[in-house]
Amino acid sequence: MTEQENEEFDLFGDPEMMKLFMELHSGNPREGPGDDKSTLEALGIITDQMDLPDKPRILDVGCGPGMQTVCLAEATTGDVTALDFFPQFLDQLERTAGERGVGDRIELVKGDMKEMPFEEESFDIIWSEGAIYIMGFENGLREWKRFLRHGGGIAVSQITWLKDTSEIPKDLYDWWMENCPDIRTIGENLAIIEKLGYEVLGHFTLPESAWLEGYYPSLRVGLERMREKYPNNEKVAALIEMELEEQTLYANNSDCYGYEFYVMRKC
Ligand code: SAH
Repeated sequence: MTEQENEEFDLFGDPEMMKLFMELHSGNPREGPGDDKSTLEALGIITDQMDLPDKPRILDVGCGPGMQTVCLAEATTGDVTALDFFPQFLDQLERTAGERGVGDRIELVKGDMKEMPFEEESFDIIWSEGAIYIMGFENGLREWKRFLRHGGGIAVSQITWLKDTSEIPKDLYDWWMENCPDIRTIGENLAIIEKLGYEVLGHFTLPESAWLEGYYPSLRVGLERMREKYPNNEKVAALIEMELEEQTLYANNSDCYGYEFYVMRKC
């Protein structure tokens, strides 16, 4: 594994809370909504419209446990570089890739997506599922462009309003503005993509099952495990409440927001 030097990362400004959060999030197959069918659909948009070399060089940013990394390695003959900040996820990906027989085509890099240690124009495809919001959709697409060869493709999935914001209930809108203000409408995101000098090749919304089957059930198993392991722990209780609030919010509002896959070409 290549390791980039980094300061420690703390989402909560509380190292103990961050440790519990990572414990909860370790061992899940996915760290965001997704499924292989959607990964392959996005890849198909690229392969249908782009000339790729025999062994495309693919970069997966914020790979997490890497279900999509392995899927990309299996679906292509290329080499995939998988970058994430947290070594636990990279270890998990290494195990899965070994079990599925594609470990020799996946390179693991522990690093920060905001300062990636790669040569300019060194990838044919940049991939990122459920992670670009961390540096911001616009900022990420602007910054990552230099790592992509001319004519190369990017596929990212991003939390997105599925309706005009005038139709979004105010409390739901406010929740997102507080928790992840990088959410925009599909039209706004397409305008950003074009403004940054990409050509839109296609986009589609992940099915509800990508959340309700692909992501939340394994997380709920983890929540139960934490509840049993740490009875009467206020931080764990707060963490569980936060996660369940997010799941209820989606169950009640899946018509208003979702994950949109955006596929584009650098031109
Ligand atoms: N693509 C994976 C994970 C999505 S969750 C999936 O769909 O399952 C977002 C991922 O981004 C997590 O794995 C998290 O560890 C990683 N991450 C968070 N901040 C990061 C940073 N600054 N640089 C690189 N990866 C980061």
